[in-house]
Amino acid sequence: MFRTGAAALLAAAAAFIPGFAHADAFETGMNTLWEVLWHQSGIPTRLVHWEQPQLKVSINGVNAAAHRQHTLQALRDVAAEAGLQVADVSDQPDAAQTADVRIQITPDSTLSDNEPCVTQLHFQHETRLDWVEMQMRDGDARRCAYHEAMHVMGVRGHPEGPTVLSYFTNQTEGLQPLDKAMLHAWYSPATHGGMTPFEVLPILASELVAILPDKQQAALSRDRYLQRTVAEMQAFAEGSADVPMIVKRSGKCTDQGVRFGRMEMSYFLGVAYQKGAVVPQDAVQATRWMQRAASLGSRTAQTRLSAGRAAS
Ligand SMILES: [Zn+2]
Repeated sequence: MFRTGAAALLAAAAAFIPGFAHADAFETGMNTLWEVLWHQSGIPTRLVHWEQPQLKVSINGVNAAAHRQHTLQALRDVAAEAGLQVADVSDQPDAAQTADVRIQITPDSTLSDNEPCVTQLHFQHETRLDWVEMQMRDGDARRCAYHEAMHVMGVRGHPEGPTVLSYFTNQTEGLQPLDKAMLHAWYSPATHGGMTPFEVLPILASELVAILPDKQQAALSRDRYLQRTVAEMQAFAEGSADVPMIVKRSGKCTDQGVRFGRMEMSYFLGVAYQKGAVVPQDAVQATRWMQRAASLGSRTAQTRLSAGRAAS
């Protein structure tokens, strides 16, 4: 989804100009990257991405011929950062029903003014994308293309900051350094589909350190950020703290989302302690968080716990 607005843009962009003297360049960038892993209703998400090397794309609908080149360019730009190829199959029979990425340019009278462009990701398990559909109004398709192309790659959030995913950017053409960092992390050899937020977080953090001018300072900030985030997420999962402020600010948190988010976060903390992701491996903590997730209704945690009991 895409909206316009320019309020926070200048401040956010200034903080990210390479070489710009800003004490917390890492913090600012990392807040944006962390927010990408959250659904705005208050639910932390897993990483989903494409597993095949080439995406077949069909572009149809109103004035499709006029939008084809620009839309394909946006897709090719994001895919290139991810190391994927894009093939235009629009002219093949049944492409609109069989392509991996099915794009429909719609009349301006459809969709809503609030949501003139929308991308839906389809996956059976929260690991690998099966297919994706994108709709864009004829009159909005040009400024939506890069934003929606990021979603097509499996990057779901709408974080604040200098990224085409932000609602508050007026730079809609091309990708910014943070967009590229997200794509590199999403398709890094260290990444696999279904990864939990604590497994993805260090990969995102490393991509951010790599693009910041003062790497030593950034690495120190990274360690502090990761530690603090685990503490904040434990408080959130326990119910003694709210969703992160960055997510709260979107104004779209729901009670149901936050309840579900606490359950998911408890499970993700269990996995983190089990695998030693961000935190040291700790079987006692792992079981404690799995039990909390199970008590909040997580079937996955319940299954894991009973499998663990059967094995021991
Ligand atoms: Zn969007």
